[in-house]
Amino acid sequence: MKTPVAHLKANLPAPLRRLADLAYNYWWSWTPERISLFSTIAPAIWQRCHHNPVALLESVTYERLSQVAEDPVYLKRLQTLAQQFDLYMREQDTWASRVAPHLSPEEPVAYFSIEYGLHESLPLYCGGLGVLAGDYLKSASDLGLPMVGIGLLYRQGYVRQRLNRSGWQEDFYTDNDFEHLPLELVRDEYGQPVTVKVVIRQRTVRIQVWRSRIGRVDLYLLDADRADNDIIDRRLTGQLYTGNRETRIAQEVLLGIGGVRMLHALEIEPALYHINEGHSAFALLEVARQEIEATGSSFYEVEAGVRDRAIFTTHTPVPDGNDVFSADMIDSFFGHYWPELGLSREQFLNLGARRFGDPWEPFGMTVLALRMTRSANGVSRRHGEVARQIWSILYPDKPEAEVPIGSITNGVHSRTWTAPLIADLYNQYLGNDWSLKVTDANLWRLVNDIPDRELWHRHCILKERLIAYTRAQVLQARRSRGEAADDIAAVDHLLHPDTLTLGFARRFSPYKRGGLLFKDLQRSIRILSHARRPIQIIFAGKARPGDDEGKRIIQRLMEWCRHPALRDRVAFLEDYDMYTAELMVHGVDVWLNTPRRPTEACGTSGQKAALNGGINCSVLDGWWGEAYRESRAGQSSNGWVVGDEADTSDQEIQDQIDADSLYDILERDMAPLFYTRDRDGLPHKWIAMMKASIRTIVPQFNSDRMVAEYVTQMYLPTADTPTEPVVASQVA
Ligand SMILES: *Cc1c(COP(=O)(O)O)cnc(C)c1O
Repeated sequence: MKTPVAHLKANLPAPLRRLADLAYNYWWSWTPERISLFSTIAPAIWQRCHHNPVALLESVTYERLSQVAEDPVYLKRLQTLAQQFDLYMREQDTWASRVAPHLSPEEPVAYFSIEYGLHESLPLYCGGLGVLAGDYLKSASDLGLPMVGIGLLYRQGYVRQRLNRSGWQEDFYTDNDFEHLPLELVRDEYGQPVTVKVVIRQRTVRIQVWRSRIGRVDLYLLDADRADNDIIDRRLTGQLYTGNRETRIAQEVLLGIGGVRMLHALEIEPALYHINEGHSAFALLEVARQEIEATGSSFYEVEAGVRDRAIFTTHTPVPDGNDVFSADMIDSFFGHYWPELGLSREQFLNLGARRFGDPWEPFGMTVLALRMTRSANGVSRRHGEVARQIWSILYPDKPEAEVPIGSITNGVHSRTWTAPLIADLYNQYLGNDWSLKVTDANLWRLVNDIPDRELWHRHCILKERLIAYTRAQVLQARRSRGEAADDIAAVDHLLHPDTLTLGFARRFSPYKRGGLLFKDLQRSIRILSHARRPIQIIFAGKARPGDDEGKRIIQRLMEWCRHPALRDRVAFLEDYDMYTAELMVHGVDVWLNTPRRPTEACGTSGQKAALNGGINCSVLDGWWGEAYRESRAGQSSNGWVVGDEADTSDQEIQDQIDADSLYDILERDMAPLFYTRDRDGLPHKWIAMMKASIRTIVPQFNSDRMVAEYVTQMYLPTADTPTEPVVASQVA
């Protein structure tokens, strides 16, 4: 039986055959060629198929392909890229091979996550957690770390967003077409799909697995949608975060227990299990069960051995955000399972209970994960503190500071999130290999050598691109809602490329305070519509399906988009995804973030903006608490802080304090800095701040540094950590 790659290859003109290899490995998506490699073949189809290269190559006409195949410039580019890809895939002398030689493709790290954000064409993510997992796999590949990812392949992914005429979010879902995505159903030697069985609600569910290639890392995605499963069970891998608790626990059983069984079926013996957020912690019970089955030992005899091979990353800074299940649900899903572990019901429930023997304690996934792993971490320094405080209850003998939860701050994949136009500037002034040594702070001092004019010019191109995209999207949305001709025509005046532009994109939950800018409507109107120093803002983000309070925040934003005094200055981009995120972090002047503290575990979108010269304006929470620098000794500051360190417990008062602080920054600092131009028309002081932001943020808040820290601090068995400069493999 032909593999999907071979099948696609056979249908391409001979000179274009290597395109099939590239289309089936997401490596292409972090090369500088990503902008035009596939899109030039057929721009309209590329847009329609949501940048999915497999679907593009399958649907474009053979005539058009033949035309591309006679373009010598295109063929040369393709040949060069294919050679780089081969070198990348074959490279042996990697950073990880020097630092962690005990890991190998046969005994890799198994990384478990309920969502993955790799690219807009594979919508298996909701937000930050998923995109982080995607960036993690990309850097693991670039550093040569032997790793496999385990996740779920959702037929419909996460909710999509459309706003109706009253500004209310209408949820809808679209189907993923697995056969026409860069995925390969894993088959055995007889050509049959490899399957494993998991019992869910007293029924056996058979799951199959698809492989997605992320450079050198394989991501295995479990799929319950098989004809031999009960119709209800087929939907278990239907949607991400539906809000239904039964579906949630079933998905977590599939991911954890099914994932470990699938690794076994694929003859992969992980040296280490990395549990990325509590959802997948059931995996560790299954590792124990297999050990018990193989050795005949008891659970308590194998427990320490399992813990020795497992680490856990917690992402949730609020106690309520941690996954918990009632004892009834545990009974229904695990009644058959605890006997296999040789445990009683009470012993099993205790694994997830904060206090042993408390009959009212729900079963907590974070508790289970902390109990079953040898080390644990939060995702920023501050989140580490918060996590130690929340979970000190599990360690009654220890003072809070000694609760064994450390922290490794999240970072972003620089090769994915830097606009090619800016990356090209870094090539010129930092050297072609800048992105391979992105953690080298000395290298980033060279940002000062970039002429102000060049940095500003390229930034302005990206900003215009964002504005053009926003207008087109808003126009389309207003047309499809059947809005008045007046409102449709008004899109021509929406946003201006010369105006100071803020971006705000995140999930709309009350604690993220998406409407803080309009707390005092009159003052915000005065600031945004200032005659000489206007400010505009682009919003994006979804509310969770059942979150009416979040939907009301969006509805209010939509009112401000229509307000006569604001309608040219406020835009809302519907259906936020990785593509919209990319355009926004590339093009805005300022990235705004105003969560209630300390609810931002880390946050990463502001780091993406910094890579591209965007400046952060945020409350001191998550990563910004580590990154913010005041100006001193002739050095420019690298951004702004909303509010101050002291928090009041009254939310209303806190919101007022923070809104006032934001207004003061906009009026007194930000707008004057942006609009003060020198004789050459450039805002040199603003550009100095852009450079300070790049220089101080990029070398620290990237995923190469993050993955390297996980390897040296969490994965390696002993404390004698080798020191090796972090170097990624050549991309292009
Ligand atoms: C980066 C990213 C996020 C995470 O951003 P936060 O700063 O954590 O809110 C969410 N969604 C998308 C699409 C992203 O690209």
